[in-house]
Amino acid sequence: MLLDRRTFAAGSAALLSGCATTSGRRFSDCTPLAPVIADESRIIRTMAGLRPYRRQGFVVRQEALGEKRLVHNYGHGGGGITLSWGTSKLATELGLQGHSGSVAVIGSGVVGLSTARLVQEAGFAVTIYAASLPPDTTSNVAGGQFHPFAVFHAGDVTPEFMTQFTRALDYSWRRYQIMVGDDYGIRWLPTYVEAGSVEDKVIANFPPINRMLGEAEHPFPAGSMFRYDTMYVETGRYLRQMMRDFQVAGGKIEVRRLAAPAEIAALQERLVFNCTGLGARDLFGDQELQPVRGQLAILEPQPEVRYAALGAFGYMFPRADGILLGGTFERDVWDATPQPSDIARILASHKRFFDGFRCAA
Ligand SMILES: Cc1cc2nc3c(=O)[nH]c(=O)nc-3n(C[C@H](O)[C@H](O)[C@H](O)COP(=O)(O)OP(=O)(O)OC[C@H]3O[C@@H](n4cnc5c(N)ncnc54)[C@H](O)[C@@H]3O)c2cc1C
Repeated sequence: MLLDRRTFAAGSAALLSGCATTSGRRFSDCTPLAPVIADESRIIRTMAGLRPYRRQGFVVRQEALGEKRLVHNYGHGGGGITLSWGTSKLATELGLQGHSGSVAVIGSGVVGLSTARLVQEAGFAVTIYAASLPPDTTSNVAGGQFHPFAVFHAGDVTPEFMTQFTRALDYSWRRYQIMVGDDYGIRWLPTYVEAGSVEDKVIANFPPINRMLGEAEHPFPAGSMFRYDTMYVETGRYLRQMMRDFQVAGGKIEVRRLAAPAEIAALQERLVFNCTGLGARDLFGDQELQPVRGQLAILEPQPEVRYAALGAFGYMFPRADGILLGGTFERDVWDATPQPSDIARILASHKRFFDGFRCAA
């Protein structure tokens, strides 16, 4: 199912410099921003991915598997980039206690790679076993906004989960901050969100700077907008660098699909981290895991666009590898291919939004 989209007043498509509106009304406090040119001719690729969603939230817990210790770290829904360092920190705190010897990590998406790096940082040798490597993971498809969006359903989580969630978010938030820069493709951007989808502060300092902007203070064809700063991860570049870091630190990678727990039990390592994302559904029979498909239209980069925007129209994240337009959350859809009709709708809703700018840089 596509997100509901607001029907914007058609208005004139002509963009005006300065702060006059198409109706002649003045927006004297309007901060001009560069609009995205959401034209079909600018699409450079389309993508779709399946978010590994559980209504009860991600799973970080350990169990015995024969002689081995198995630590789960999967089910991050729409927030796996955001939470990866944090849940991996929780998982390694559980698993590494009292352990000696080498370690196996199953999965080479963002969660597997951050788990593997934390295990290496703690001084252990690691082998990653993964059916597919970047760029062929769901993590590569992600938009990469630091925000724990669509991670659980509020009515279905336990207080214990919420403790894990806030601890994970806090650790991730601090860890990403020390990785900002071109090496990892991480940068801060002001983010504008249509009022109505505003969430409370999830942890004390996230989002850090935030303010509600009145209609006259921003260029968007919308009423009040919430503005905050957060980090954005260019996922292709980030995962590439994480793989390099892992290998430079002596990590080994074996491309291999593990079909059943018995195959895991046969691995030589006595400690195994399960970071298989949606794959955990088949591998461990977790029927609570469900795919939530997201589709993206990627436009040619526009370096002058240095803000992100979210709302009823969908979302726009500007990255060096393209301007990402998204906004679908389709439950229980297993087909990870972009649908031309949905892509056309994503493009049209963004075009209405950006063509409706009331002042432009
Ligand atoms: C369109 C879209 C936009 C998104 N935007 C954001 C965003 O802005 N911010 C954010 O935080 N998150 C976002 N997400 C969510 C994010 O992509 C996921 O939560 C995250 O990628 C999950 O990471 P993972 O490592 O658990 O899974 P994956 O990236 O799927 O990696 C799983 C790994 O396990 C391996 N594997 C699976 N099964 C087996 C098996 N049986 N044997 C061996 N290996 C196996 C796979 O080959 C792969 O290497 C988005 C997702 C989508 C689809």
